[in-house]
Amino acid sequence: MKYINLVHFACFFLICYGEKDRFDNYRVYNIEVNDDAGLGEFQKLEESSSRIVFLNEPNIHQPFQILVPPDQLANITELFKRSAVKTEVQHENFQKLIDEEQPHDTAYGGHFGWDRYHDLDVIYAWLDEMLQKYSSVLKNHNYGKSVEGRALRAVKLSKKEGNPTIFIESTIHAREWVTVATATYFLNELLTSDDGEIRKLANNYDWVFVPVVNVDGFAYSHSNNRMWRKTRKPHSIIKFCVGSDPNRNFDFHHGDVGASTNPCAETYAGPSPFSEPETLALSEFIETFDNIKLYISFHSYSQLLLFPYGHSKEHTPNHKDLNQIGQKTKQAIAKRYGTQYKVGNIAEAIYLASGSTIDWVYATRNVSLTYTFEFRDKGRYGFLLPADQIIPNSLEVIDGLKAMVEEAEALQYL
Ligand SMILES: [Zn+2]
Repeated sequence: MKYINLVHFACFFLICYGEKDRFDNYRVYNIEVNDDAGLGEFQKLEESSSRIVFLNEPNIHQPFQILVPPDQLANITELFKRSAVKTEVQHENFQKLIDEEQPHDTAYGGHFGWDRYHDLDVIYAWLDEMLQKYSSVLKNHNYGKSVEGRALRAVKLSKKEGNPTIFIESTIHAREWVTVATATYFLNELLTSDDGEIRKLANNYDWVFVPVVNVDGFAYSHSNNRMWRKTRKPHSIIKFCVGSDPNRNFDFHHGDVGASTNPCAETYAGPSPFSEPETLALSEFIETFDNIKLYISFHSYSQLLLFPYGHSKEHTPNHKDLNQIGQKTKQAIAKRYGTQYKVGNIAEAIYLASGSTIDWVYATRNVSLTYTFEFRDKGRYGFLLPADQIIPNSLEVIDGLKAMVEEAEALQYL
């Protein structure tokens, strides 16, 4: 009885005070595999529900990173020997990176800005402020509720009737904090900048922003586990496996390839298409627009610019144009700081992955231009991109978006 009380007390304590998971002495390994056998070993490991965290998907095109708890070091060393891969210890203590991600500013009182990462409440409060300040051109859309009851929110900037729509979807993966930071920076530029090119973008297009798709996961990544990726709906039978990968949950070749059937895996596709209220609501919200010409999904990290398809290596009918627009975007991104992106269709550039938003929008919503950005960096900090890189990342991405729209106009998509 005493034991039970103690457990209850501990749970109560954890829930009430949101004790954060720590990653003391977790190692980050950078891994390069160059054959299918090596790749298979890591894919098996990822499926096995071990406590090793895959920071990105194993693939043979570029290095990927894994996070290894101290008690798993012996196991992973065995696997390294067996699979003959190239490995390197990138960080000895992951917790240190987490501790250094945000500026140590004791004066922070919850004010919004781009010098640090913010939680959902602060972001929504800033949106409300903007909605009030720019009420003639900026409108609010509450398009649903999350599993945990949070508002799913979008804003639409429209300066004149009949504009084509550009849709920006951000933070469908909870731990990718730089995505919402960049989305809000860009929205602020569209509202306030004097730059002629930005004014043109703001005047000639309607811009829909969903700053945080995965609101529950995002809140959890702030309160409990900085590395949380999925939604927060517990599996119906295996209760300790929580969440699905919302970017594998869309109803186009759902669960075909590059998505897991293991409810504990990071890329679990969910029991059925749109099983997650957050993805269903987003899909229904997208369906309310009949004039989306360009759909963009913000992710981090890896410095990639990807377009459909992910479920198959088959090229889309306008593959050449998607690539050409992508190349122009890549060149524009590199101009300011030299940041190098790689461009290509998901399946060939990086890995097969089905059920993503950009595939679904492309294939079922008749939108010919859909892209995924994977922002900075290439694994040095990964998801823990220091906050002083929010503005540089935003500036180079905006350079890229300007070029993307310009080239899409030249090819008469817009
Ligand atoms: Zn992502």
